Amino acid sequence: MPMVTIPAGQVAAGHLPPVCARHGEQATATKKVNLISKPPAWAAVLIIAGVLPYLIVVMALRKTVKAPAWPWCAKCTSQRTRSLLIGLGLIVLSFVLMIAFAAAQSDAAAFGILLALIGFLAGIIVAARATTQAITGAFVSKDGNLVEIPKADERFAYALHHPGARV
Ligand SMILES: [Zn+2]
Repeated sequence: MPMVTIPAGQVAAGHLPPVCARHGEQATATKKVNLISKPPAWAAVLIIAGVLPYLIVVMALRKTVKAPAWPWCAKCTSQRTRSLLIGLGLIVLSFVLMIAFAAAQSDAAAFGILLALIGFLAGIIVAARATTQAITGAFVSKDGNLVEIPKADERFAYALHHPGARV
């Protein structure tokens, strides 16, 4: 799984091979994706000061590249559907359990509510993995000049460096 970097301008122009960067499959569609940079590790310290200061700093430092035509394959679609179904299923199930435990009003119910709360958060995390950017596995570099794909498929890397070659 090579780390692949692409100039931001090339991504913004939609000049990408018709191969999925994540799975190496032939692209079945292209997607409009807003790719963003990861928050710097030190920004996490700001969480102590509160969620709002953290968000302000992260948003201020965030670099975005608008990809008008990111290659998207059948596996991307099924991965997205699976994450959404599992995530939303967990959220709904935990919510129902929370209400049921809250109605029970016993000592064991408090523990049940806590478990349901954990399930709820897990559901949000799983559902968040269904966003288009999460599926692409691509990030914008800190300076905003590059799009980085840390775990790109070799077939994508090959197609990127050999334009016009059949894959
Ligand atoms: Zn894919």
